[in-house]
Parts: sequence; C-alpha cells; structure tokens
Amino acid sequence: MIYNFSPGPAMLPLEVMRQVHEEFFNWRETGASIMEISHRGPVFLQFIEEVEADCRELLNLPSNYRILFLSGGARGQFAAIPLNLAGGDLTAAYIITGMWSKIASEEARRYTKVKIISSNEESSYTHILPADQWQNFNGAAYLHYTENETVHGLEFPQIPLCETVPLICDMSSSILSRPLDITRFGLIYAGTQKNIGIAGLTLVIIRDDLLERIPQTATPSIFNYALQVKNRSMYNTPPVFPWYMTGLILKWLKKEGGLVPVGARNQRKAEKLYQYIDQSGFYKNSIDRAYRSRMNVIFTLPDSDQEQLFLKQAEFNGLIGLKGHNSLGGVRASLYNAMPEEGVDALIDFMKIFVQKFS
Ligand code: PMP
Repeated sequence: MIYNFSPGPAMLPLEVMRQVHEEFFNWRETGASIMEISHRGPVFLQFIEEVEADCRELLNLPSNYRILFLSGGARGQFAAIPLNLAGGDLTAAYIITGMWSKIASEEARRYTKVKIISSNEESSYTHILPADQWQNFNGAAYLHYTENETVHGLEFPQIPLCETVPLICDMSSSILSRPLDITRFGLIYAGTQKNIGIAGLTLVIIRDDLLERIPQTATPSIFNYALQVKNRSMYNTPPVFPWYMTGLILKWLKKEGGLVPVGARNQRKAEKLYQYIDQSGFYKNSIDRAYRSRMNVIFTLPDSDQEQLFLKQAEFNGLIGLKGHNSLGGVRASLYNAMPEEGVDALIDFMKIFVQKFS
C-alpha cells in the first residue's frame, strides 16, 4: 500500500479512483467519456446540479449564497477578489500568516490599495497574532485571510471575528475538512486539488449582496462573479473533468457521513502525529500549539543529511510526497480528507523505526 502525503495535487480516495476507472469510457450511458460530451448537454447539466446540491448540503449553505466552479486556481482569485470587490478608492485589509496570504496581498496590491492589519512574518510564521493586536480595518472593502497556510503549517483554529466588513477566506488547503459556519463569510474560495478533487477547478462561494458591488467595466469578464453566476459558471468552456472529480469527492464525503465525522477524523490524524513528534525528542515542529495545522504537519530532523535519508527511506517504504516546501526544507505530511488514519499510523510507525535505526 502506498500512502501519498503530497501537498496538492494530493491523494484521492481509492474508491473514487476505481469509479473513475470504471466509467471512464462510457459515462452515464452517453457512450462517451465525460471529457467528450457537451457541457451544455442534459447529462452534464444534470450532473452539475447534483454537484451544487451536494455542496450545499455538506456546507448547509443558506439560499443567499452562490457557488461558482471556475478555472484559474486560487491564484486567479488573488486577482479576481480585488478586481470584483475593491474598486475605486477602497482599501482592502489583509492578514499575513505565511507564504500564501502574503502572495495574495501582493497580487491584490496590483489592483487596489492594501492595508496589512497583522503580520507574523518577523516571527518566521510560527504563530498567529491575536485579534486584539490587529490594526483597525473598519471601512475596508473586505478583510482577507488564509485559513490554513499550506507551506508554513499553521491554521486559524476559529473563524476570526469580523462584523463590520465582508470576511473573505482562502480555504485552498482546508475546504470541507471540518464543519463550517459559512454565514460568517462574504466569500470563500479554494483550489480543489487538495481536499476536494484535482487541479483545474476553483470553488468560489459568494454572498448575494456582494454581487451588486462589482464594477462592470474594470473586471475581466472571465473573472466577473456576477457574469459567472448568470452563466452558471460556464461563461467559457469549463474544466469538465476536474468538475466531475469534485462531484465524485463530494458524494464520497457524504457517504463518509458528512463534515462532522470527516472533521473529527482529520483532527485525530493530526493530533496523533503531533503527539508523537513532541514526545520523540528527535523530530521537531516549532509552530505554536494553538495554531498548528491539521492539514499540513511540518517537521524537521536534527540535520539535513538525516532528512534526506528519512525521505529516501520513507519512499522506499511506500510513504511518498513527504518533502517539505523548497523554501523551508524539512518534512511535510499533508493529511487531507483522502488520507486514511492507517496512513498516519504507517507514517508514525516508520518514524519510530527511523529513530531507532538512525539516531
Ligand atoms: N492558497 C493556498 C493556501 C495554497 O495552498 C495554494 C496552493 N498550494 C494556493 C493558494 C495557490 O493555488 P493554485 O495553485 O490553485 O493557484
């Protein structure tokens, strides 16, 4: 058995892969694959209705929220958000907690004024500053944060309090990994390639009232949320295969019992790995405990030679995708929805043996 700890694209549930394999040549009795039929035909339209309904059910989405399935990745949204929602003289507020929120704010700066209201860069992204230390963001076009920092391995344990302006969140590496109170947000977005599918699709959920703010001239049509809502996310030809994959994963999440049990499982997986790291005296994670990511567990070994050996031996033992991000080095175990608990157990067992053999 291979366990794939890649940060995204990432492991997919085996039973979903089997289903894709089975229906690859003849999807829903169309005589063709999903990639070969019209996205405007009745079979595809029926399918995307199911995808939307499943997503609404999983998130318990109120009727005043729209769901969009777009291309361009989360990075596309880094531009789309200010272009849609921070026109004119407005300032957008950003919280910096790691590499991804920083990149989001830098991209926004190309289109609007940006105010960084909190940054933990000076402390090497090891904790998140509490809200009473943030600067004032009243009057901002919106407040943006990144729920889970995929590279630096830290996560907001709760949704920050934000009642005065629309709250916007990049959930690329945490979407649908636990229950979510969507009513706290104006907009959330996520590339689907970690927790809910493969690369090529971006989920955007937006509250109706924000659609009215969008400047009709300055926003490129393909990124215009109002236009995409009107066109059911099909203003251009959509990425049909990634959309299909997300549809299958949402059905799988429902079969797993929904976000309550899935969230509890994700919590258990991360807890047992951190617990072992902390007691090992060999592996080290330096993120403040209150903000440790459930999704991306980063750790180091005493020196980089040992890390190289660890990664090589892990791969030899069927534990792949563990290399840390190039900017940080070390090891990163990504534990998204599709990673079973047995995968984490196998990793911990391997880590124990490695300590005995090589320390
Ligand atoms: N935000 C976060 C939190 C991410 O982890 C990533 C990808 N690793 C991105 C944004 C960029 O996503 P994409 O490649 O889909 O543009």
